[in-house]
Amino acid sequence: MIKENLYGKTFNELAAVVKRVGLPGYAAKQIAGWLYKKEISSIDEMTNLSKQARDILSVDYAYGLSAPVKSSESNDGTKKYLYKVLGEKFIETAYIPDRDRATICVSSQSGCKMGCVFCMTGRQGFQGNLSSNEILNQFRSLPEFKTLTNIVYMGMGEPLDNLVELLKTLEILTSDWGYGWSPTRITVSTVGLLGSIREFLSKSKVHLAVSLHSPFDEERRMLMPIQRTNSVKEVLDVIKSFDFTSQRRVSFEYILFRGLNDTPLHIKELARILNGIRCRINIIRFHAIPGSPYVSPDVKATTEFKEKLNAKGILTTVRASRGEDIQAACGMLSTIEQNKRK
Ligand code: SF4
Repeated sequence: MIKENLYGKTFNELAAVVKRVGLPGYAAKQIAGWLYKKEISSIDEMTNLSKQARDILSVDYAYGLSAPVKSSESNDGTKKYLYKVLGEKFIETAYIPDRDRATICVSSQSGCKMGCVFCMTGRQGFQGNLSSNEILNQFRSLPEFKTLTNIVYMGMGEPLDNLVELLKTLEILTSDWGYGWSPTRITVSTVGLLGSIREFLSKSKVHLAVSLHSPFDEERRMLMPIQRTNSVKEVLDVIKSFDFTSQRRVSFEYILFRGLNDTPLHIKELARILNGIRCRINIIRFHAIPGSPYVSPDVKATTEFKEKLNAKGILTTVRASRGEDIQAACGMLSTIEQNKRK
């Protein structure tokens, strides 16, 4: 019999578990404390529960942690881990140390439905939503777990396409009974799904990053098929109706492709459509994937593009490229692993 995992359950879900197995209500708080504040890995180590209570729990439930199955390390200290999920699928998690910060980049789905043409994960197609257990396990079972300062949901998949599980993980990360992290240490990246962005912004306080990549409808449609049904204009209208003037931030991710989206017209249009939104643009260098016609402009052209946007009044930064030597493009490692096992 497959047991249900306790790790990844919210407080309300744990309360339902203790009720179901006949334990007193306060046991939910005790279990949450063991799951999210201590570093144990089995129900048997929950020593403030009686032996009988632990035995009752263990009949149908498992603690629910699983270690990564593979890792590789870049010369720059970035590491990539492969975790096994949904039976025989593999997802990627990146660990990115940078001076006094250590960021984990987690996946929210196996594969992805969005089909962005520059993305290796998009080529895998959709293979399934990760459970809150599978998303948070990437964080908790990371060997560098104790050093982490930030979490970004920018790995495989579209987080807002897995909204229920995403919101559970954010609740566990930011609640007092959970990890108690500040929402300002967490960023969720999305292509901009109109069906769920409003609910996400209402129910969480974490930062938002929108993958933009072009300010022009036609061009963005070519790069990101989602633009056909979820236009950037509509996404920006939703963003404008939320408050990003205090601690919460919105940023726009912009992968720069040479000769495609790096012209003066793009700078002008970006400044126009983002006018009135307190935001930042993050320019990302393109990590090449096999068979793709796209290339990054050189460092000089990238810097010039950034400076011109800054001169237009849009705070713009270039994200340092990390892990180039370990299949940095998201989806490369897991694709290789899945092909090997076919
Ligand atoms: S870029 Fe993100 S949303 Fe687009 S296909 Fe890749 S994983 Fe999916």
